[in-house]
Amino acid sequence: MDYLSEVIKAAVWGESPPQMPKWNKWLHRSLSDNHCEECLKLDGCWFTKDKTPEWPHHQYCHCILEDSSYNEVVNNATATAAYSKFDPYLFDTMGEYGHGKERLFKAWGYTVNDSEYLKKEIEKQGLQKYILGQYTLGKLNRDGQRISITIEIMRKDKNDVVTFVSGWMVYPNGHIQLTTPYGG
Ligand SMILES: [Zn+2]
Ligand SMILES: [Zn+2]
Repeated sequence: MDYLSEVIKAAVWGESPPQMPKWNKWLHRSLSDNHCEECLKLDGCWFTKDKTPEWPHHQYCHCILEDSSYNEVVNNATATAAYSKFDPYLFDTMGEYGHGKERLFKAWGYTVNDSEYLKKEIEKQGLQKYILGQYTLGKLNRDGQRISITIEIMRKDKNDVVTFVSGWMVYPNGHIQLTTPYGG
């Protein structure tokens, strides 16, 4: 049984697995006429208590943080990555990005034919690590709150693991979406 299954089982049975993060949900309240775009983007988003964007967010911020149960987060969180983030973007199949990221993956034995595998694997690890609170808060602006998550994959050419940092955007109700598969 993998760790996530154990966490879900423990949550269902009301047991607490070790180091279970405490969660809260950012709630924007419409108490004034001018709505700040950053607060509106944070509305409904879940963060662990130790990795929540600065709150209150500014003077006269009416937002509140509401406690969320771990169970609720585990049962609702989702992570998605668009296939296009790998093909054509990561592997730069059209040669239009020139970021050179495909060279690293090729050195690890991955080609554009592994796009579906990488998409699935990054979605799986992204979800697990978000649920476990293993993320780093990144830039917040009117587009939303970014987080980064470390991904581990096996090299195909040798029995070794490589790690890299992926970038995600946080959406309401526990949804995170991949913005960049390889950020460093
Ligand atoms: Zn605000
Ligand atoms: Zn606010």
